Amino acid sequence: MDTSYIINELAEDREHYFNAIAPPIIQTSNFRFESVAALRKAFEDEMGGYVYSRGLNPTVDILRKKLAALDGAEDCLVFNNGAAAIYAAVLANVKSGDHIISVNKPYSWAQKTFDLILTRFGITTTYIDGTDISQFEAARQPNTTFIYLESPNSWNFAIQPIREVAQLAKAHGITTLIDNSYCTPLYQRPIEMGIDLSMQTATKYIGGHSDTLGGVLSGSHQRMKKIFDLDYLAIGSGIQPFNAWLLIRGLRTLPARLERITHTTGEVLRFLKKHPRIDNILFPLDESFPQYSLAKEQMQGACGLLTITLKEGTAESITRFCESLKHFSMAVSWGGHESLVIPKCAGIPPDQFDPANTEHQYIRIYTGLEDPQYLINDLAQALEK
Ligand SMILES: *Cc1c(COP(=O)(O)O)cnc(C)c1O
Repeated sequence: MDTSYIINELAEDREHYFNAIAPPIIQTSNFRFESVAALRKAFEDEMGGYVYSRGLNPTVDILRKKLAALDGAEDCLVFNNGAAAIYAAVLANVKSGDHIISVNKPYSWAQKTFDLILTRFGITTTYIDGTDISQFEAARQPNTTFIYLESPNSWNFAIQPIREVAQLAKAHGITTLIDNSYCTPLYQRPIEMGIDLSMQTATKYIGGHSDTLGGVLSGSHQRMKKIFDLDYLAIGSGIQPFNAWLLIRGLRTLPARLERITHTTGEVLRFLKKHPRIDNILFPLDESFPQYSLAKEQMQGACGLLTITLKEGTAESITRFCESLKHFSMAVSWGGHESLVIPKCAGIPPDQFDPANTEHQYIRIYTGLEDPQYLINDLAQALEK
């Protein structure tokens, strides 16, 4: 299906709402029925219609159908944020005594779910660096039921061989999930590579304006229905109609924004690579990236995130650099219109900062929609400090 069709037309029955181009926000909690029989039928399959907006809602459904199609998936569920999508997907697919294989350093709330919540139910997790399929094979146990990927990782951009992992998992009846937030389905298509569940936060590139949160989980209709019928309704973390409407609006410009961000990031990368104060740069589609060939094979693009280390990697110089930037805001998240910077050391207590540990020196930069030269000038003056 054409991306342009998905974004601009799919699931929009405009004749049902006065031929308005922008869809209505159906801000209702419940839906009325004409007969007991109709109500009974709705109860029997809540995913088949509109009953109560903790389940499905017409505005959310427009977004849901578009996002499923973008992922090349049969179906999808839209959550109030990305963390909720991860939580529901994992909880719905494991039981007491199971074993999970996860890549090292997944998104922080995924890791907390594994380490602090699932351990309460006797579910264990083995972390692997995941760059080679043999590590998955070695970590597999008879009770392994779930494999958790994040490719690329959003700090060091580590990549897993997605097709091989999907094949291995299928051979052993293991469910696979990938956090595809870095690429979005425009730049990487995990469902087509055999992954069961593709998750992405919609807060980042899909929203695109830093004004709403959302989370997407895609897969087969059967898998989505299983999650909807129990975990989705029980956790109650589905997206609200107004936020869904904002995400539909964000989707309209997603390809144009990604194109622009990709271009600007390229310019910023070229500038940083030549700068004498920069020690190392991590960017998956740069030839210097350790997994460049796998990145090129799996990803159609990489956009706004890159991680740098300074030659003078002390906490003081990292702090001085970040605080000297005038147009990059220091903030979590990414994917919005505004450029951002975040130093890893902000999450490390000062007495535990180890200047010999490269990871402690990471500074992540997100390039937004500003003019490339405007951003480069800002980086240049901050690096002089
Ligand atoms: C932000 C993020 C999430 C969580 O998404 P929220 O919408 O903030 O809950 C998950 N994975 C990655 C890689 C992220 O960057």
